[in-house]
Amino acid sequence: MNKDQYEKSLLTCVRCGICKASCPVFNNSNLEPDSPRGRMRLLWAFTNGHIKYSERLYKTIFGCLLCGECTRSCNPGIDLNEVFYYARAELSKYNKKTDLYNIFSNFAFNHTDLLINAYTPISVLLINPIKKFFINKFYNKGLIPKNIDINSKPFRNVKIFHPKNKIGRVALFLGCSSKHLYPQHVTAICSILTAINYEVVISPAEVCCGAPFRTLGLDSQVVHCAKQNYETFKNLNVDAVLSLCPTCVDTLKNYPTLIGESIEDVYDVNEFIFERFLRDDIVKQILPFKAVYHEPCHMVNKTSRNRKILKRIVSELVEPEKRKCCGFGGTFSILNPQISNNILTDASVELYKTDANAVVTACPGCVFQLSKKINDIPVYHIVELMYMAINHEGSAR
Ligand code: SF4
Ligand code: SF4
Repeated sequence: MNKDQYEKSLLTCVRCGICKASCPVFNNSNLEPDSPRGRMRLLWAFTNGHIKYSERLYKTIFGCLLCGECTRSCNPGIDLNEVFYYARAELSKYNKKTDLYNIFSNFAFNHTDLLINAYTPISVLLINPIKKFFINKFYNKGLIPKNIDINSKPFRNVKIFHPKNKIGRVALFLGCSSKHLYPQHVTAICSILTAINYEVVISPAEVCCGAPFRTLGLDSQVVHCAKQNYETFKNLNVDAVLSLCPTCVDTLKNYPTLIGESIEDVYDVNEFIFERFLRDDIVKQILPFKAVYHEPCHMVNKTSRNRKILKRIVSELVEPEKRKCCGFGGTFSILNPQISNNILTDASVELYKTDANAVVTACPGCVFQLSKKINDIPVYHIVELMYMAINHEGSAR
């Protein structure tokens, strides 16, 4: 979105307030500035010089999940997510802490391998009670799930998985969560793709897709990530680039507006493989789950394929009465832990009401967030269930 489109969007808002009902943050506080309409009105006032920059304005605009619910409900069709991204980049220019955020987030998201290299020996040295103390502290603050661990052996070399009768070649864009927290998701999808005869390539030159920087309004960092990923993926000679994370998919697809270049044929994994997965008849067992499907915000209205796959591989598929955002929003859950946890509690209540014995979703961020509250039944990424269904025994975990 450019300046003209941004200002036009602010003018297009007729202040009807229809978007308020679907906003999880507004539903948590009931305060008008926390609603999408309130944010639009504040940004209009700021852009037209009626109010000045303040810490409070910054916090209000950044206190949004970027879940997209308001965009989906806005009658005049304003893309509020793009408005908020633009506004964040603008407000960051005024914030004194932006330089600090730049350094910190650059280290956290662009040098994760370095951090993990440092963490691994420390983690071995920490005696178990001390390690447990810190894990419990973060867990009690609602920042991490109880049984999370860091993958100490991320993908450092080019990996190619060969099928028996190759029909094509795809690249996996791992994303930070799958790479560093959920390598079992990667194992599962590589196994599924080779079972339907795709060669899979994983490149260690992949960097963060840029989404966390975009949410923090750090546009120069996003451009840096986009350029590096573009250079990496354009040379892999593949039919498609697939990701397990809908936020990564959205960000990768947005590269043309960020750098004027696009990575061709970016898909969510199941968007690419679902027909072949069902047609090739590779399912060996129906899994004994009454599974409840949590639809990720960045996949709303795009997940009929996931439901079709799930109906084929689990004994019963159910949905919550009301679809609710899990409250993750990447950096949102770190910067606003209390609101994030309240939203998570609402979503978990809806999922528990279904009496399911497993939760399944299609986003590693949702798996991470839901696992903070849901400990007594498993929370799966859909590819884990697909992996179990095509194997007679065992799981990728
Ligand atoms: S629904 Fe759209 S037009 Fe109505 S208040 Fe919300 S943003 Fe403005
Ligand atoms: S993106 Fe989500 S959290 Fe942000 S204003 Fe819209 S509905 Fe509310």
